[in-house]
Amino acid sequence: MSTDSKFGEYGGQYVPEALMPAIEELTDAYERYVLDNEDGFMDEFRERMADFGGRPLPLQRADQLSQRYDTEVYLKREDLLHGGAHKLNNALGQVLLAKYMGKERIIAETGAGQHGTATAMAAAHLDMPCEIYMGETDIARQRPNVFRMRTNGAEVNPVTTGRGTLKEAISETMRDWARTVENTHYVIGSVVGPHPFPSMVRDFQALISEEAREQIQEKTSDLPDSVLACAGGGSNTMGMFHNFVEDETVDLYAVEAGGSSLSVDEEEGVAPNSASLSTGEEGVLHGARTKLLQDSDGQIMESHSVSAGLDYAGVGPELAHLVDEGRVEPVNVDDDTALEAFHRLSQDEGIIPALETAHAFGYLEEHHDGLGETVIVNVSGRGDKDLETVIEETGNRDLDNAPDMSIFREIGGGML
Ligand SMILES: *Cc1c(COP(=O)(O)O)cnc(C)c1O
Repeated sequence: MSTDSKFGEYGGQYVPEALMPAIEELTDAYERYVLDNEDGFMDEFRERMADFGGRPLPLQRADQLSQRYDTEVYLKREDLLHGGAHKLNNALGQVLLAKYMGKERIIAETGAGQHGTATAMAAAHLDMPCEIYMGETDIARQRPNVFRMRTNGAEVNPVTTGRGTLKEAISETMRDWARTVENTHYVIGSVVGPHPFPSMVRDFQALISEEAREQIQEKTSDLPDSVLACAGGGSNTMGMFHNFVEDETVDLYAVEAGGSSLSVDEEEGVAPNSASLSTGEEGVLHGARTKLLQDSDGQIMESHSVSAGLDYAGVGPELAHLVDEGRVEPVNVDDDTALEAFHRLSQDEGIIPALETAHAFGYLEEHHDGLGETVIVNVSGRGDKDLETVIEETGNRDLDNAPDMSIFREIGGGML
């Protein structure tokens, strides 16, 4: 089987000459092992996702939210995956593929540290040496994840260029890869980058909707009316949507971070949001043509979100294409709404969601009337990693439903 590198006008392979051999080798491996299941690759992937990852994961009816919204709300519980988020589906798939390709070393970038943590876990599990590139600003902000990566035996390489965040970390990882392609695989963290990454990462994450589509039919004898997932780069989104794309009666909503505002400050080069599907323009970033937050000169702008995992100026090319085709509806909710939804899900259902995930529930809270009778929301991850941020941000705002967090502030930071 072979694959097309484009989704409409998006996608492609915009990489320097030095990376082309690596990209070609990877494309060949993707087609043979993932698409054609050569040497039983996909069977081993599924088996490890069951035994190490804990799949299949439940599709749970949310009793309190269903009553509150007078809508049947079902939760796909990716927060129960080993590591606490959907990221392992991709990290384990790619590290296993690297083994099949005969590679001996794993590298990855990380922003908030979630992808780095998942990659470090997968590399330890499969006995591969692993190095993670992380901006020094992010290292300072996300210390617990740095400890997790190191504890799993990974090296963490600080990136000091630019703002020291995700964009620079990706560039630095690509530079390493260009030097080391012979023995190294680069595990990219979302459905972004040059072909075959967007298709390959989607295929690993598609376990989410493969299970959910069967589970909802078992439970309701029908397909859902709507499916919601938050979108940063869009990997949990594509994983949750993939097996529903052909079901025309199912509406798909990609919920982006509206941040503090949808307007931009061109002078400062800042977009106070990460809503690239809703407000972005076409351009090239990290090897692919896609929708990007950029100013009128085509400069990539800094993004913002209260949730670090959604804070990225680009988005996966397939998702951008599905939006242009009208198959996926791009929507967004702001920081305040996401924080309220964080508290709502925690109090009503006993599930503390990741702040990324809380965006999808913010949309549900505001728009449940228009979503039909049955809705599935992807719970992309759990929120333990966000508690410090939530304590800080909740204290700074006037939210309707937040508990009193002041006791934590009195104790002081750093205890989590
Ligand atoms: C990383 C992350 C996201 C955003 O990444 P996508 O590629 O857009 O899925 C969303 N939710 C959680 C819990 C994450 O860790």
